Formats: sequence, structure tokens, C-alpha cells
Amino acid sequence: MAEQIKPWRIVAVRRLSEAQLEALSGMAEVDYFEDVDASNHADFMAALSKAHGLIGGKLKLSEAMLAKAPALQVVATISVGYDHLPLEALSRRGILLCNTPDVLTETTADTAFALIMATQRRLVELSNLVRDGGWHAHIGPEHFGVDVHGKTLGIVGAGRIGAAIARRGALGFGMPILYTAASPKPALEQELGAQRRDLEALLAQADIVCLSVPYNADTHHLIDADALSLMKPTAALVNVARGKVVDEPALIEALRRGRIRAAGLDVFAEEPLPADSPLSAMDNVVVAPHIGSATHETRDAMAQLAVDNLVGALVGSGPLTPVNEDVWRRTFSEAQET
Ligand code: NAP
Repeated sequence: MAEQIKPWRIVAVRRLSEAQLEALSGMAEVDYFEDVDASNHADFMAALSKAHGLIGGKLKLSEAMLAKAPALQVVATISVGYDHLPLEALSRRGILLCNTPDVLTETTADTAFALIMATQRRLVELSNLVRDGGWHAHIGPEHFGVDVHGKTLGIVGAGRIGAAIARRGALGFGMPILYTAASPKPALEQELGAQRRDLEALLAQADIVCLSVPYNADTHHLIDADALSLMKPTAALVNVARGKVVDEPALIEALRRGRIRAAGLDVFAEEPLPADSPLSAMDNVVVAPHIGSATHETRDAMAQLAVDNLVGALVGSGPLTPVNEDVWRRTFSEAQET
């Protein structure tokens, strides 16, 4: 039997399920990379130079790399955040970018709440006390935590994930909710009694400040030394957004000097977190290795959405969650006209 000629070439970076890889292989020649690093970067670039589509989780693309990928039409990132990708350059080159919103919202909110619980109740520190053989008597005030229920929860960036965190706080733990966002959220105000504040007021009033903004030029170091100085000394900072939303040295200094009580961090300025980071040695800091969406179910749903986006864009039925939708509309209407 003659081998079927496949019209597209796809580069896949990151583990996909067999069914997902099969779906892609059915329509395209797939160059698969478990990961891309210095050892296989040349092979990756050779594959990218012929590719129509690129799918993956940690795709770091530069303008120079795009210039060597003349056939590239679609980039499907397996993440909701796309701060690692050059959106403006992609749009300028008519390359569609798709992300994976919604399917990771609840899981990332769960992660935020795990960090809230762990920082308030000193869970990691006290677990380590037990493991290290340090539990000799009844626990006294020096090991007491701080309540979660009833405390004021400040959501910086009340979008999909921020709203899901707010719901957990208000409905599950009776927490008054304050929030910031670029635009008001009347549904959240009605549903949860949430109140919009400017950032300064939120920082001054919240017992727990939770970051869920996208990372971009506006949110770079949004939480700097000045912002930290506005927080209550009893307050905790939880970050499930991106590391560089926080000025990390300023945070370390604030934690060291007791200007804030604790931090729960899923994301860092540099990832993986360098082994000698002071953050991983502080008892009042809970660190997680960027696990916001890292459950079997959610990672699978994210990969599936990215596959559906890529296939939908290439075959013309349409992507489900495009970022630069104007590129899609332009490309699609041009394709219809020809
Ligand atoms: P989203 O729905 O777009 O929510 C972002 C929210 O931030 C929106 O409410 C937006 O306001 C608000 N915002 C934007 N700029 C702001 C600013 N300068 N000040 C205050 N608020 C601002 O996005 P999402 O799906 O919730 O995801 C949010 C981010 O979480 C992603 O971009 C990603 O970086 C991060 N994330 C991390 C993990 C992890 O593994 N830790 C997992 C998933 C996502 P408007 O609604 O008014 O536009």
C-alpha cells in the first residue's frame, strides 16, 4: 500500500498521551522531543525549520528562531500563561498562538489554597519537626499557626484562577474577599460579596495576599519592597502567578526582617529554584516546584486542548482558545477567499 502523504509537519515538545500523539500523527509528520536543551537544540531547530505547527509546554521561542521557521502557522502552548513566547513577533509573522485557559483553573486554585493552608498552619515546617524527631512534648504557642477561616483574602488579579481561589475562600472558609483586576467583576461582587480595591488598599487590608495576574511589562515586580511594606506584618503572600511578578530579593528581605509573616510560593524568578536560594531555607516559606496545574487529569486536559487547538487551526475548523484571534480571523478569511 502506498504511504499516505501527510500535508503538515508538527514539532511536539513535552510528553503527550499515545492517543494525542496518534491524533497528530494521523494528519502530520511529527518530530517529537521529550525536552529541548543544548544537546538537541540543533535537531529541534532543523525540525522547526520545516514545521507548520509547534505544540509544547515550555516553548522558549525567540524572534531569531521564528525567522528560521518560515512555514510555521500555529504555536499551541500547553499553558494558559504565554509570557515565555514573543506574542508581538508571532502576530507580526501571522503565526497563530493558542493557549489552554479554563481547563487548569480549578486545579491551580487548589494549589493556591494548598499554599494558603500550608503557610497559615505551618504545615511543612511542623511536618519536618515530626520527621526530624523534634516532637517531644505538647505543641505550644511557639508552634501555633494562624487561622485561615474568617481571614481577609486579597486576590491580586481576579480573573479565572483568582475568582476560583476567591470562591474557595468565601464559600469554604467564610473569608471576606478583596480583589484587584483591570476591570470590575460585578458577578464576583454579587456572588461572594467581594470588594474591589486598588492594590495599595488591598495590600494594607488583606491577611493573605494571593497573586494570580499574568506576567507582563505592567506586572513585572508588581510586588516590590514598597508594596511589601504596605502589608500587615502578620500577613502572608501566596504566588501562583509568575515569579517575576514579585521582586524576589525584596521578598526575601521582608521575610527575614519579619515585615511579613510568611510566603507560599509556586513560582520563582528563576526556575528550577537555585539550590542555594534563601527561600528554600526559611521556615516561614513554603516552596513548591511550579505545580499549579500539575495533576494527571489537568495536564492531560491541557495537552488535549492544545492538540485540539493545533489540529483545528491547521485543518481549518478553528482553534478553540486562540490568543491572537485577529491572526486566526485574517488567516481563515483569506483561506475561505482563495
Ligand atoms: P486571567 O483569567 O486572564 O486572569 C488574570 C487577571 O489579572 C484578570 O482578572 C485581569 O483583569 C487581571 N490583571 C491583569 N493585569 C493586571 C494588573 N496589572 N493589576 C491587577 N490585575 C490585573 O488569567 P488566569 O487564567 O486566571 O491565569 C492567570 C495567570 O496565572 C496566568 O497568566 C499564568 O501566568 C498564571 N498561572 C500559573 C500557574 C502555575 O502553575 N502556578 C498555572 C496557571 C496559570 P481583567 O479581568 O479585568 O482583564
